[in-house]
Amino acid sequence: MRVESIRYQNYRNLADFTLTPCEGVNIIYGNNAQGKTNILEGLWLFCGGHSFRTQSYRELIQFDKSFAKLECVFYGQERRQTAELTMETGGRVIKVNGVEQKTSSALIEKFCAVVFSPENLSLIKRGPSERRSFIDSAICREKLRNALTLQKYNRLLKQRNALLKEIVRNERLKETLSLWDEQLTTLGAEIVRRRMDFIKMMTERAVVYHKGISRGSEELRLRYVSSFGAEENDDVRTLKEKFLEKCRQSLQTEMLTGSTAAGAHRDDIEIIINGKNSRFFASQGQQRSAVLSLKLAEASVLRERMGENPVILFDDVLSELDNDRQDYLLNELRDCQVFITCCEKSNKEQLNEGKIFYVSEGNVE
Ligand code: ATP
Ligand code: MG
Repeated sequence: MRVESIRYQNYRNLADFTLTPCEGVNIIYGNNAQGKTNILEGLWLFCGGHSFRTQSYRELIQFDKSFAKLECVFYGQERRQTAELTMETGGRVIKVNGVEQKTSSALIEKFCAVVFSPENLSLIKRGPSERRSFIDSAICREKLRNALTLQKYNRLLKQRNALLKEIVRNERLKETLSLWDEQLTTLGAEIVRRRMDFIKMMTERAVVYHKGISRGSEELRLRYVSSFGAEENDDVRTLKEKFLEKCRQSLQTEMLTGSTAAGAHRDDIEIIINGKNSRFFASQGQQRSAVLSLKLAEASVLRERMGENPVILFDDVLSELDNDRQDYLLNELRDCQVFITCCEKSNKEQLNEGKIFYVSEGNVE
């Protein structure tokens, strides 16, 4: 996967310009608040229509303008393709290869990227939901089917929780619960299996990247922590049985709390550096390196599943990393198209091969 060009019009502070990156590493540098992250965010939108910074696409339209437009020419599935996103206050229009699409999920499986933004550091320090979203976002980009399964699971979960609250008032409704449990556990088992497969593949790769970034001084491991006793080698059927059993066991408490106690929505992923849980023990640089290794591992798994390299978007990754770690990111990620933003002029001198863009007040030189 490779971006040939992207045109930004009225997109946040980017008035109108076309970026034509090279196939390798592209450094986007400039002072604070000039539009570097906006450039990456625009590229990321082609992965499925969602920003990594906001839920509201209206925020993406330049102040005082009525629309924003992004046009991307890229190579994917071995051909040159185009995608267009127009955002207006009244709605969005998405076109792929000139054909209008009903939903933004039409972009999934067409364009694929992996993004690191400083917000991702919360992956290590915050609660389990951040880590679940990380994995879920990856498996959604891998297959549209996964995205739909997750959507359905979350919808069912809400309905089941509402039912639990109702049962307290109307005991007879308890009989209908098994119908919901049947569906919820079927989908939940499928999600957990996909996540565990993905994590297994990621771990193998993350270990190698982390060794590379830390120049051999650290070892990274990942562990899926299930809320209903799921184990790595369980097949989908076993997972479903375990999940169902847990639902039965927890029913009394669930009726009191009005929420589903265990399931895919309560699981966690432990990120372990040199045998210690990074959530509690990692330094700033270690956290950053671990998240980066995970992102690179994610890219590698996606490459295997999709048969091509995703585009790598690194927003402000270099700060807090020592020279060795920076050098690794700038010069050792071969085969992928990489976009890296930074403020330091010195970083561009560290780049052996690639293209450099200077961003100033929403324009690129
Ligand atoms: P930093 O180095 O601090 O991360 P940056 O170059 O990444 O800076 P961006 O996050 O890309 O900066 O933002 C650049 C500017 O875009 C900000 O000043 C922000 O206020 C502005 N901006 C954000 N949304 C809009 C919008 N809808 N219309 C116009 N400007 C916007
Ligand atoms: Mg920024």
